[in-house]
Amino acid sequence: MSAPLLVLEDIRKTYATGGGVAVEVLRGVSLTVEAGEFVAIVGSSGSGKSTLMNILGGLDRPTSGSYRVGGRDVSELEGDERAALRRDGFGFVFQHYHLIPGTSAQENVEMPGRYAGLPAALRESRAAALLGRLGLGERRHHRPNQLSGGQQQRVSIARALMNGAPVILADEPTGALDSASGAEVVALLRELAAEGRTIVLITHDRKVAEAADRVVEMRDGRIVSDSATDGGRRSRPAAPVSAAATAEHHTPASVWTSAGEAFTAALRSLGANGFRTALTLLGIVIGVASVIALLAIGEGAKRAVMARVGALGVNLVYVLAGSGDPRLPTTPLTEADGEAILRLPNVESVMPYLDMPVMVRYGNIDHRTSGLATSASLPLTHRWPVAAGSFFTTADERAGAAVAVLGHNVAKRLFPNGESPLGRHVQVNNIPFQVTGVMGQKGDLTGSQDTDDWVFVPLSTGVQRLVGKPDLQLILVSVHTVGRIAETRDAIGALMTKRHGQEDFQIRDVTARIRTATETQDTMTLLLGSAAVVTLLVGGIGVMNIMLVSVTERTREIGIRMAAGARTADIERQFLMEAALVAGLGGLVGVALGLASGALVGLFVMPVLFTATAIAGAVTSAVVTGLVFGLIPARRAARLDPVAALSSE
Ligand code: ADP
Ligand code: MG
Repeated sequence: MSAPLLVLEDIRKTYATGGGVAVEVLRGVSLTVEAGEFVAIVGSSGSGKSTLMNILGGLDRPTSGSYRVGGRDVSELEGDERAALRRDGFGFVFQHYHLIPGTSAQENVEMPGRYAGLPAALRESRAAALLGRLGLGERRHHRPNQLSGGQQQRVSIARALMNGAPVILADEPTGALDSASGAEVVALLRELAAEGRTIVLITHDRKVAEAADRVVEMRDGRIVSDSATDGGRRSRPAAPVSAAATAEHHTPASVWTSAGEAFTAALRSLGANGFRTALTLLGIVIGVASVIALLAIGEGAKRAVMARVGALGVNLVYVLAGSGDPRLPTTPLTEADGEAILRLPNVESVMPYLDMPVMVRYGNIDHRTSGLATSASLPLTHRWPVAAGSFFTTADERAGAAVAVLGHNVAKRLFPNGESPLGRHVQVNNIPFQVTGVMGQKGDLTGSQDTDDWVFVPLSTGVQRLVGKPDLQLILVSVHTVGRIAETRDAIGALMTKRHGQEDFQIRDVTARIRTATETQDTMTLLLGSAAVVTLLVGGIGVMNIMLVSVTERTREIGIRMAAGARTADIERQFLMEAALVAGLGGLVGVALGLASGALVGLFVMPVLFTATAIAGAVTSAVVTGLVFGLIPARRAARLDPVAALSSE
């Protein structure tokens, strides 16, 4: 013969009350329940019935004594093993139904199935079938507050049956019902007993207890009578529990299933407290929005600077005449300096630079602009192609030929009718120069000077005919390998110092300027970033706060889920996901706000550049913030004591 289903031996339960006084609520209860029995435990209020039921159902542990379920000692079980016992072994029915508010009857009934890992389709069909059987088919999608007490109690019975638990523990199931609904519930329990399920019905009402086959009476924490031992037992053959109802073992619900549920739960609690949530999330929203908007502004500024600086040529080293201190004597920069520099390693080309204001004229059109006396290497040094004709040559330079190359805009000004300037003679300061080429459009290089508004002439010609002095303002050096530009710069410096006997020049290169610009921008980004992190932290504290409130408000719900067999991890994950979702939602709103405000700045103030990395990073930080700050509330929820949680208001 197999072991009896439930065996309690000398169970004692002592509560420590305030002031160090211990109250013994159960004083040595011994009780054996066979599979298939319908037992009523009757007794006046305070006699210890609920305490006994909590121990029977694995919600609570006895202070001493042994409790065996199907021969297995469960009094010492901990945490998740206890949860598994509740999940597969017992279905609870409470006096106040304990349905999860705000979710439909169907969802309430399905809930234990989630923790048992039933596949969604099976869960759905089984819950629907149970509700249909209990006469609630029409009301499957009603919420608890849309149902009468009797209906709610039937939903809770359906929930108790969901995982096919062999034992139903009903604590005062009729206590809150009118007599007609109460009778219906008792009839239902009878029916379940008739199917072979084991029923433990707890009641203070003797008339209700009479429905059972066996009545156990309790008084002051002791069993004072038992119809089974008193000979009054109405024996009924124990039928096997139907196949569908035997506990099935499934893998725990997948992460996605729990994510789905957590999402719905999160939306529900958000919906219920929309305004409060919105206020709490403001930190995250503002944090994320500011990260996105400020980074976009920063990136926009950086790109503008880079574009401007980059257009000057990353491959260029500038050698400027004069030390920058007007009191020091200076030697002029000369073409010979350039030729010496050209012989240095990594130097690709050297371009002398001597500019002067000029007046150019063609026909009756006058144009006041800048002339640049330089060498034939300009197109190479500047990576600046000629659009029409060709640039003047080294031969022109040597010969001091009166030839000129026009900038794009100069050509347009002097030849407005689209006539080709090539071969024509233009007057530069009243001296005729033959046009050999027109430069391609380069755009605004420096931001201060229109690069396309130049007239280029050979250095020798410019010196002889336009300026009269061979002193260069600067020498532009282009290098072969940009990576070695610093080295080349130092070499030029050393060479020039040697040639001039002093440091009466300045050397610049664009990479240094880019580096400075980038460093400035990076510092800005870092500052903005830290401000955003602080905002996110504040937002995270907001999330923690709202989650702690949520845990407190939903303590009973947590108890209900634990009674249904939720593991510590299930509860923890639910609240963590809620926190992450709430924060993620804040993050998304923040993204929208950040994009909108960034776009406004872009439209009216300065260029902005949104980067996917910044947006993804901001949302990720929001979600991570939610997870980190949700951890404490989630832990708190998961560590609640089921009995205490269930009895919370
Ligand atoms: P019943 O369900 O028969 O009305 P209970 O089992 O709920 O009785 O309670 C039995 C006794 O234990 C009561 O006197 C109650 O005050 C006490 N009791 C129940 N739970 C606690 C607790 N957590 N701490 C202290 N005393 C408790
Ligand atoms: Mg009670």
